[in-house]
Amino acid sequence: MPIAGQEVNPMKLKPAYITIEDEDGNIIERIPMTAADDDWIRAGRLRKKAEAGDKEAAKKLKEMENTQMMEVVDDEQADESEKSQDNMKSNFQIIKGDITTQQLDAIVNAANNSLLGGGGVDGAIHRAAGKELIEECKTLNGCETGQAKITKGYKLPAKYVIHTVGPVWRGGDKNEEKLLEGCYRNSLKLAVEHNIKTIAFPSISTGVYGYPIEKASIVALKTIHDFLEQHESIKKVVIVCFSQNDYDVYRDNLDMLV
Ligand code: ADP
Repeated sequence: MPIAGQEVNPMKLKPAYITIEDEDGNIIERIPMTAADDDWIRAGRLRKKAEAGDKEAAKKLKEMENTQMMEVVDDEQADESEKSQDNMKSNFQIIKGDITTQQLDAIVNAANNSLLGGGGVDGAIHRAAGKELIEECKTLNGCETGQAKITKGYKLPAKYVIHTVGPVWRGGDKNEEKLLEGCYRNSLKLAVEHNIKTIAFPSISTGVYGYPIEKASIVALKTIHDFLEQHESIKKVVIVCFSQNDYDVYRDNLDMLV
């Protein structure tokens, strides 16, 4: 299983690469994160050697810094980029737990097209909200995959439930990714329209709908991240993972993306 890490410059230089390493720590792939030039690569190598105690490398690195050969991000740019990362991190949480107990303005339900209840997180939300929830759901005429509809939360601590229908995984070439993106984006859009400031998501589609968690978590994190960058009214988004494994996957991917 490849391990991904991020090379970040300690001197406010731009992040250069996501490095993919095998178990023995050998780099098997470097994916440029930003336009990184040759100096950047050289500086990265030198820095590693310098940190390992190579005096010659440390000297060369110092020379590079002094002669400004590296692409140094000015303070303003660096602050902007840090602000955006901080924004995502401070507005965003991944926890392990039960979504029905979340004391937030809204929780999102991974429902099915009928919106009339099901198993998994859907069943848990309906049980906790009480019978009135299904009565309101009956008035909604179902929901298309990738779309979202809103109801009250009834006995839940959350004021609202946003019901969205994730795609069933059919191998990945049946528009699953776009549909899953739609779930997160359309739920967040509804949240903005209803002045919802805090919202929790389950890991949509990764239960009985079979969407691979690695892939689904990246779609979830990217879509939420992009939305938060454009909508400041949402103050907190929590992804509630039900299992330790789901939690670990989301956490690892968040660290990699942000
Ligand atoms: P889907 O049909 O969209 O796959 P599921 O309900 O089967 O929906 O599963 C979605 C995710 O919700 C799974 O990761 C499952 O473990 C998780 N889940 C189940 N119950 C809860 C709960 N009470 N709180 C949070 N997540 C839950």
